[in-house]
Amino acid sequence: NLHFVFTQGFDSPEQVARYSAFMDDVAQLVAVEYGGSLKAEHGTGRNMAPFVELEWGSDAYQLMWQLKRLLDPAGILNPGVVLTDDPQLHLKNLKPLPAADEIVDKCIECGFCEPVCPSKGLTLSPRQRIVMWRDIQAKKRAGEDTRELERDYQYQGIDTCAATGLCAQRCPVGINTGELVKKLRGQTADHGKTANWLAENFHTALSGARLTLRAANGARKLLGAPRLSRMSASLSKLSHGRVPQWTAAMPQPLKSLQLPTASNDARPRVVYLAACVSRVMGPAAADHEQTSLLDKTRGLLEKAGYQVVFPDNADSLCCGQPFASKGYAEQAEHKRQEMLNALLLASRGGLDPIYCDTSPCTLRLVQDLADTRLDLYDPVRFIRSHLLDKLEFTPQDEPIAVHVTCSTQHLGESQALIDLARRCSKEVVIPEGIHCCGFAGDKGFTTPELNAHSLRSLKDAVQYCSEGISTSRTCEIGLSNHSGIDYHGLVYLVDRVTRPRIA
Ligand code: SF4
Ligand code: SF4
Repeated sequence: NLHFVFTQGFDSPEQVARYSAFMDDVAQLVAVEYGGSLKAEHGTGRNMAPFVELEWGSDAYQLMWQLKRLLDPAGILNPGVVLTDDPQLHLKNLKPLPAADEIVDKCIECGFCEPVCPSKGLTLSPRQRIVMWRDIQAKKRAGEDTRELERDYQYQGIDTCAATGLCAQRCPVGINTGELVKKLRGQTADHGKTANWLAENFHTALSGARLTLRAANGARKLLGAPRLSRMSASLSKLSHGRVPQWTAAMPQPLKSLQLPTASNDARPRVVYLAACVSRVMGPAAADHEQTSLLDKTRGLLEKAGYQVVFPDNADSLCCGQPFASKGYAEQAEHKRQEMLNALLLASRGGLDPIYCDTSPCTLRLVQDLADTRLDLYDPVRFIRSHLLDKLEFTPQDEPIAVHVTCSTQHLGESQALIDLARRCSKEVVIPEGIHCCGFAGDKGFTTPELNAHSLRSLKDAVQYCSEGISTSRTCEIGLSNHSGIDYHGLVYLVDRVTRPRIA
């Protein structure tokens, strides 16, 4: 069984002739020289029909035709499939794959990427995004008016893509459709000045975010959670998503960051990089857990014997992810570099490990990282590589639900997260069929239907769990909202079931 993926074009007679010669050679090699089978697990369609006689010989082939005519004397059942009189059938009615963008031009429209996409069934799957973009580009080149198609594509293709690139993990040719979407967002990203201002005044922007959360929290106290939830849902609908939707899982604001200065004692040092969301978002008001992620993480690291240090100017730092996902690549890279420089300084030139409390931010920082001195960890890798020998685990009886974020999957830490959860709880539930939660940083606020669609089966799957864990604070907002249980960072669970190991 010779199984290959290739990206043959069919745009010119030369390309079709090349394909024809290729198919002749393959059929000769497999069926004649090696006596093998031209088809294995796939159906024998129009592409192989002209070669069936070559493989089986004329006696068997004629027998097949006799059977076919007995059952289908008028030749109306799937004409041309499996058996054909036309030796050129595989070169006719070829599906065009017009060039659209180099990020997706290799796509063979196989659909392997579709099951993991959170927008499949709500709007488009990655394959459909590519097919539609190809069609728009081909029509444009032919001089057709594509304005209506492009208007539809804005919501169907661009606005409802989480852009976390989970599709790339399933694609045999490595296509990340989220990259195409981010590129298209970049082409219409016309708030460059605002993005520049935000990048330069990140500290002030975070204060603004804290203020917004404080106002929402005040409204909750005044109106009560159910009424505020109903009112904000209507407001969000009326404003076409410009006013974010408030839910009972919304975080309360944290106070401005007041970080201790390093004391330089004899304990090993770890640099703690708290993501901007962990510096702004506290637990939800109704959550039984009221310690912030920042305090919980610091407590766990200290319990394991570490001296926790923070980068200078921590409240101005950002990995750049919020800029990148909206198409502001330049500002995103500027913030990323600024962050890497601060981490190099804080880790004494890479001497100390760096713990980042949010997996999407870790992924953004480690991708294409040129500076090999930086020793950067997401929560899963740090706990499994640095804390297991320093802490004693006593697993709890209560079942726990695990959500593996897209970035944890990209970082290759999925199984390690599940293994860690199993050290902490005797029963671990991993909901089937949920691959990306669709919250995507802030899409859960602005395009909540994507989050709701992706997590539509979550509540049933976790009904016997007392708590869920993850490694991204924003994903946890949507997960809590759609599951009926509170989702927390992994460190909450690890801290609860561990004590320092006595040497
Ligand atoms: S898996 Fe890759 S090649 Fe197949 S449809 Fe999806 S993007 Fe295209
Ligand atoms: S990036 Fe995510 S949402 Fe976008 S097409 Fe790929 S899997 Fe779907």
